[in-house]
Amino acid sequence: MRHRVIRSFVLASRPQGAPVPDNFRMVEAPLSELGGGQVLLQTLWLSLDPYMRGSMDPGPSYTPGIELGRPMPAELVSTVVETRHSDWQVGDVVVHDAGWQDYTITDGTGMRRLDARSAPVSTALGILGMPGMTAFVGLANIAEPKPGETLVVAAAAGPVGSTVGQIAKIKGCRVVGIAGGERKRQYLRDELGFDAALDHRDSGLAERLAEACPHGIDIYWENVGGRIFEVVLPLLNPFARVPVCGLVALYSDSNPTIGPATQSLMRAMLTKRLRIEGFIVDDHSEQAEAFRGEMSVWLRDGRVRYREDITDGFEHAPSRFIAMLRGETFGKTLVRL
Ligand code: NDP
Repeated sequence: MRHRVIRSFVLASRPQGAPVPDNFRMVEAPLSELGGGQVLLQTLWLSLDPYMRGSMDPGPSYTPGIELGRPMPAELVSTVVETRHSDWQVGDVVVHDAGWQDYTITDGTGMRRLDARSAPVSTALGILGMPGMTAFVGLANIAEPKPGETLVVAAAAGPVGSTVGQIAKIKGCRVVGIAGGERKRQYLRDELGFDAALDHRDSGLAERLAEACPHGIDIYWENVGGRIFEVVLPLLNPFARVPVCGLVALYSDSNPTIGPATQSLMRAMLTKRLRIEGFIVDDHSEQAEAFRGEMSVWLRDGRVRYREDITDGFEHAPSRFIAMLRGETFGKTLVRL
């Protein structure tokens, strides 16, 4: 029998600090008949990503803010269950960005077909999708890793950080990851082959980092901001590169108290000739094909590995999103419907 409603999660209220369950509300809307040129998609996988926290605020973030009552943004992997569009057949699996919802009616704009035989389709949201590509373009365009250099990456066990570290290993770097907790440290060292892995909650982080980077830091991949950048800055070598990818420690912090005074940061940038450059993956769509080609080969050859944190049930999306921001998920955070 045809499904009768579309369920979605909308922004019910704006978070004051870290998001809480009351910031989200599930709403139902009747599912209308398809018009000509439309398809009905059923969601299989919902991706939960840190940028969504920025979208919950009214002010500018690196993605647009959303209005109260509007659906939370997200990329989805879905399957076509009804079609009145000649390009799309029932059973096609696609990636698209309709937001937190279980069904979507669309004319197909912005949809990309996936080949389930070449890789598990969930990877289109992780290692072969936006997070993997973020790592790829930031390394290629800004970090430019060279053999023998030392790269440090924060939020290292997540989908962006773990990919950054593994590509840097392929490029011949010494790689030091910073993540929360012993399980994540072990994973980075024992399963991904990082040279060292540190815990950002360790009160002796500055000393541990200096020990792990005896020749200083040539590339610092910034995913977090705050205290980690504080301990990294003194260790940066002349001509170090700092791709500023994300600042997850600051997203829920409206009044940050940590941070080097602007003048001392500027002095370090000048005297060490640092390259500190922000970037947003969406600006680099022309590199998507090169990324998917190269990453597919690395995956096939076992040179890059990935990990997914999967929860079943659409209703769990808010709690898993909150858990992801707290570091309580491990790997690419996904909800399976
Ligand atoms: P993750 O799935 O790794 O989730 C974020 C992780 O950050 C948490 O799990 C937690 O891991 C860590 N974290 C949270 N708060 C803190 C804190 N206060 N101090 C230290 N670590 C913290 O995220 P992604 O891999 O998807 O994304 C990583 C970064 O990249 C984010 O900042 C994101 O916004 C950014 N990004 C940027 C893009 C761009 O185009 N510029 C595109 C995609 C992502 P732990 O257990 O280690 O503490």
